[in-house]
Amino acid sequence: MNKTILITGGAGFIGSHVVREFVNKYPEYNIINVDALTYAGNLENLKDIEDRSNYSFVKADITDASLILNIFREYQPDGIIHLAAESHVDRSITNPTAFVMTNVIGTVNLLNAAKEIWKDNYEGKRFHHVSTDEVFGALGETGLFTEDTKYDPHSPYSASKASSDHFVRAYHDTYGLPIVLTNCSNNYGPNHFPEKLIPLCIHNILNEKPLPIYGDGKYTRDWLFVIDHAKAIDMVYHQGKNGDSYNVGGFNEWQNIDLVKELCKQMDEKLGRAAGTSAKLITFVKDRPGHDLRYAIDATKINKELGYKPSVTFEQGLSITIDWFLKNEEWLNNVTSGDYQNYYDTQYEG
Ligand code: NAD
Repeated sequence: MNKTILITGGAGFIGSHVVREFVNKYPEYNIINVDALTYAGNLENLKDIEDRSNYSFVKADITDASLILNIFREYQPDGIIHLAAESHVDRSITNPTAFVMTNVIGTVNLLNAAKEIWKDNYEGKRFHHVSTDEVFGALGETGLFTEDTKYDPHSPYSASKASSDHFVRAYHDTYGLPIVLTNCSNNYGPNHFPEKLIPLCIHNILNEKPLPIYGDGKYTRDWLFVIDHAKAIDMVYHQGKNGDSYNVGGFNEWQNIDLVKELCKQMDEKLGRAAGTSAKLITFVKDRPGHDLRYAIDATKINKELGYKPSVTFEQGLSITIDWFLKNEEWLNNVTSGDYQNYYDTQYEG
């Protein structure tokens, strides 16, 4: 069936994989990528599909309510998959307001535009909000986040995402807007911006620079290959129950230190370096404030109700990711020059 879907944040890390998944899988859909191209947005991520007839790009900032409404008027979308966000926890600590503007106000602008354009005729319509497991706060050494876990955000980033999740649900409860939400664990994969742990370590190993690990390295995260997240979004967008949220993860927990050691091992093998070479670069740095000890997702609902299963193990996904970065050093060098370098230099204190 012919449909128009607006994907916000489609030039970013996860958004670009979602755009590609939809453009390739649904040639009959019209996919419109709406992105402001902040430091994290990069149209290079979509080079391979930019000429497809079912894809177009619109540069727009979701904090601009009237611009967003005009875009909705022009394209008359049947659905929205909303990924545009300020997404980096460390940046939220230095500039929380930017996170409120994009993640909260921007989301409300999109909700208002959808409500206005659809005018209570919600047949065949869907607003899919993409969120994070960080809204649930921190876990101790045991337990998992389920869809019923109470929200308890600790960083300005997670507080802004929690707020946006609440607004999305409120528009469903108050106006009947047809929504679904996904809360996903940490993603990794090709095109990951190198301020995040895995690409940062790949970049630093290549350049023989220290690998900064917060605190004692015991922080635990649940990791999912980005293409598997894109596939989960496709599934929930098409088959998720109206008004429901779905936790997305791969039951794949790693302490940061173990993850970085696995990465070092694979990098040594791929670069033909002696075992243990990269691990020598590991450097413990001062902890970030409000750091959550452990996140882990219970993905039983999406597995059971929608038959979702990740396609790769962590070791396989990591290997694909490293190979991609080794083949795309130019991409990495482009995004790590200029502003990024200035940002990086202010971040990590030994
Ligand atoms: P990203 O930072 O790589 O990309 C964000 C994109 O949004 C960029 O293309 C940027 O240009 C765009 N953007 C930012 N502000 C905008 C604005 N005001 N108007 C329009 N576009 C704007 O982020 P990501 O890691 O791909 O995350 C995408 C979404 O998935 C976010 O909502 C994030 O909260 C969520 N999420 C991320 C992870 C993860 O591990 N990265 C995990 C779970 C959920």
